[in-house]
Amino acid sequence: MPELGQQSTSTNLQRFFGSLNRDINSIKSTLPALEAELDRRCSWKQDENDSAVYDTECGNSICFRQGNLRSSEYEYCPYCGGMIEETKSDN
Ligand SMILES: [Zn+2]
Repeated sequence: MPELGQQSTSTNLQRFFGSLNRDINSIKSTLPALEAELDRRCSWKQDENDSAVYDTECGNSICFRQGNLRSSEYEYCPYCGGMIEETKSDN
């Protein structure tokens, strides 16, 4: 088995850490977008006439065949992926 000299080992390490740094920097640069994605919320408003129906902030409506949003185990909007926030209808 050929033996690596001191020189080439440290050169290899430098290359390794150089590319590691580049990877870390590219991951760091995507973090703000990822955080914004995780923070996304979608507010769902219960229909005034039909408590099984909700209008979603992202422009869809959803109807629960059984129960409602609270009795379902929905946490995220199936349309936009935002975390569901139930807003009370103003009445
Ligand atoms: Zn949504």
